[in-house]
Amino acid sequence: MGHPDVKYLFLNGDFVDYEEAKIHVLTPSVKYGATVYEGIRGYWMAEENQLNLFRLDDHLNRLFQSMELTWMKFLYTTEQFKDFIIELIKKNGFKEDIHIRIMILVISDDGSMISTEPMGSAIAALPMGRISKKSETGLSCAVSSWRRISDNSTPPRIKCAGNYQNSRLAAIQASLDGYDNVLILNENGKLSEGAGSNIFIVRNGIPITPSVSNNILEGITRDSLIHLFKEKIGLNPIERDIDRTELYIADEVFYCGSAMEVVPIVSIDKHLIAKGKVGPITNRIKSCYLDVVRGNDPDYEKWRTPVYK
Ligand code: PMP
Repeated sequence: MGHPDVKYLFLNGDFVDYEEAKIHVLTPSVKYGATVYEGIRGYWMAEENQLNLFRLDDHLNRLFQSMELTWMKFLYTTEQFKDFIIELIKKNGFKEDIHIRIMILVISDDGSMISTEPMGSAIAALPMGRISKKSETGLSCAVSSWRRISDNSTPPRIKCAGNYQNSRLAAIQASLDGYDNVLILNENGKLSEGAGSNIFIVRNGIPITPSVSNNILEGITRDSLIHLFKEKIGLNPIERDIDRTELYIADEVFYCGSAMEVVPIVSIDKHLIAKGKVGPITNRIKSCYLDVVRGNDPDYEKWRTPVYK
């Protein structure tokens, strides 16, 4: 085991060697998926010798909401988590784009399904470039025959490890069927989201995205794009139900998420979107987003946390 680029991880208050970051197999985190987490990106700005973490406070805020909803106790304050994250990055000395995973675990030894303590926490910061090989040319996607989990069963609003069984089933099925990725409908047959990202479509020049009550994770990238569409591009996105057939006739469709960033979709269930070409609004919002996260756009400084002071 080991990671060529990562020396330290954070586990339960300590910075430990990559190989030492272990928990027991009988913890509720392993047995029942009782882990809530966040995925955050850090962007390296070579000219300024700086690594900017994107919307760190908002991710920590969502982490605290996930803990609240799953009866997990708050181990540290937001400020303490921030300090741990920044120290971990400095200890590893990253000077490249990274992805940070922060996990809150229920680590009672052979704990029962309802145990809520003791709690543990882990942070990993790993180098991560663009994750989709087709982020320029666009993906072919399937609408899954699986339905998205619901707020009445395992709420997608909670960023909980157990929720990703639903994503996994849908994504593996799509992959076995020969597609690059997947779109999942909710129990009402309306679009919810991808396996690990939110979705926008564009119709008649208007960006449209499922509303927060369509069984989605309330994505921070989704929120950023709503701001950027309004404030930078002059378009007013609509949040509403999206039918399956709207996907097939949309002018543009794209995924968005912290790890994914903005990735175009050029075919859905074999229907070509805009003749299989990446659309102009997708390209515009993508470059706008990348300028903001990297810090090439001086606006939205409040969304960037510099690591190296
Ligand atoms: N939906 C799901 C299911 C996800 O896993 C993610 C990635 N965290 C998103 C949406 C996008 O969320 P964010 O933009 O906050 O990364």
